[in-house]
Amino acid sequence: MKKIIVAIDGYSACGKSSTAKNVANILKYNYIDTGAMYRAVTLYFLQNFVSLTNPIEIENALKEIEIEFRHNPKTQKSDTFLNGINVEQEIRQMVVSDKVSEVSAISSVRRFLVAQQQKMGRKKGIVMDGRDIGTVVFPDAELKIFMTAEMITRAKRRQDELLEKGEMIDLEDIIENLKKRDMIDTSRQDSPLKQAEDAFVIDTTNITFEEQVEIIVEMIGSKIYES
Ligand code: C5P
Repeated sequence: MKKIIVAIDGYSACGKSSTAKNVANILKYNYIDTGAMYRAVTLYFLQNFVSLTNPIEIENALKEIEIEFRHNPKTQKSDTFLNGINVEQEIRQMVVSDKVSEVSAISSVRRFLVAQQQKMGRKKGIVMDGRDIGTVVFPDAELKIFMTAEMITRAKRRQDELLEKGEMIDLEDIIENLKKRDMIDTSRQDSPLKQAEDAFVIDTTNITFEEQVEIIVEMIGSKIYES
C-alpha cells in the first residue's frame, strides 16, 4: 500500500504526541517526536553550560550532539537517546521545558534538527509531530493536521503526564510555562508555529483520545485512497 507523510503540528499539550504515536502504531508507520529532539538539545546545552547568546559555542556544541530514537521493549515505546544515553525521562522535566523554547528559537539549532528530520522522512510512512512540520520540514506532506485545545484542558493533561512520572507541579505554573512557550513559539523569527494553509484543524478540547486517533486514521485512509 502507498505510504504517505503525516505532519501534525500544534501547541504544547494538545495531545499531539500520544495521538501521533497511536496513529503510527495502527498504520505501522514510524513515529517521530520532534519536540523530543529540541528537548534533547536543550538538555545538552544545560548540562554543558552552553551560552545561548554565543553562536560559536552553540555551533561547537551541536557538533557533539547525536540524537537517536530506540525502541524500548519494556514500554513498547520509543525512547530518546542523547549521545548513547537514554534521556527520555530527563527531557520531560520542567527544567528542560523552561528553556526549550528559547533554544528552539535559535536558527542554527533548527537547521541542525530539520536536516535530520527531513532525512527520516525520505522513505515516507512516517507520522511526525512538532511545530513546523507542515510548514517547513515537509511542506509537501500528503496530510497536515493542526491540533488545538483550550488552555485549561492542555494544562490539566500536562499535569497528569508529569504526575505519572512523579513530578508534582501546580496548575498555575504549568499554565505559565505553556503560555510562555506559546508566545515564544508563535512569535520567533525562524519557523514560527503557525497553521499551514492546507492543514486540517482538530480541536481536542471536547473529544476523546480514541476519537482523535480515529479521525486521523480515517483521514489517512482517504488520502491514500484519493492518490
Ligand atoms: O512538543 P514539545 O512540547 O515536547 O516541544 C517542546 C518545544 O520544542 C516546543 O515548545 C517548541 O519550542 C520546540 N519545538 C519546535 N519545533 C518543533 C518541535 C518542538 O520549535 N518541530
